[in-house]
Amino acid sequence: MQQLSTCTSCQQPLKEIKLEGHYGQGVTADVCGNCHLVWFDAFESVRLSGLGWVGLLREMIATPRAAQSVPTKMQCVRCKGSLKAVRNLTRFGRTAALECERGHGHFQGFALLLAERGLVRTINSHDLAALKEENTAPSCLNCGAPVEDVPTSLSGQTPVCKHCDTPLMLFDLPRLTQALLVRHGDVLTVEEPRQQLAIACRGCGQPLDATQDTSCENCGHVVAMPRLESVKPLLDKIEPILRNTRARQARPWGEKLKNMKGDASATQLHRWLGHTKDIFSSGNHRYSEAHSAVNYIGAIALMLFLYWLFG
Ligand SMILES: [Zn+2]
Ligand SMILES: [Zn+2]
Ligand SMILES: [Zn+2]
Ligand SMILES: [Zn+2]
Repeated sequence: MQQLSTCTSCQQPLKEIKLEGHYGQGVTADVCGNCHLVWFDAFESVRLSGLGWVGLLREMIATPRAAQSVPTKMQCVRCKGSLKAVRNLTRFGRTAALECERGHGHFQGFALLLAERGLVRTINSHDLAALKEENTAPSCLNCGAPVEDVPTSLSGQTPVCKHCDTPLMLFDLPRLTQALLVRHGDVLTVEEPRQQLAIACRGCGQPLDATQDTSCENCGHVVAMPRLESVKPLLDKIEPILRNTRARQARPWGEKLKNMKGDASATQLHRWLGHTKDIFSSGNHRYSEAHSAVNYIGAIALMLFLYWLFG
């Protein structure tokens, strides 16, 4: 049991949470609810399963609103060394994290962590119009601060939160849903998503298909989810589906090998080697010499294959 870590910015204790990773492995995250920051040890965040993300999102929703200030004096939770800002270019844009130079892990703001996994997108003019129709003021997904003086339309530039300096983002409903519907390494398909994952349109109340709808078929209202709490109904519907999905029966190690015992031609590699042997030996008088050469080539091929497999 390692000692309790504290947030190096606000000095509050970090809350250690255990999340599910792929194939049932545990992943630990340390969360500062005050600064809306998550610490992951090296590479841990990529191992989160759908259920792990459900747990992390629930934790984010449950944490009180942030201190509304840009975190300062950030240090590595493990070695107290300095952190360097890294910008990872993902297919969803640039996201930033503060990484320990010795590779212990990284701190990331809530919204940027979600952005890195493509679960959120930047706000656009259609979202602003939809929020206006809903009589909802836009707010910062990262720190929760309301956004004052929002322009009525945006011309390419994404507005940035004045409190925490994060671009204004909203949940991307279909991408989030698809990312969550993964269990034991399998992508789950939901038979009737419009019923099983019904999310009410904020324009007319019709159920939306969370796996694909970005706007309502009925009234055209755009799905704009700028708050952490807005995904709670989705989590409540997805979590039981994930929990009720059992892992496929694992195949005992070596069963396949056992089945083809004594049958050297059972693998592609053997078949291929046998084939080369035929080519070399057909019509070749110096058969034995060619044969040993083929064995030699075969051995090299096998070594390369094994190196590729386990190297
Ligand atoms: Zn903090
Ligand atoms: Zn460190
Ligand atoms: Zn903010
Ligand atoms: Zn509608």
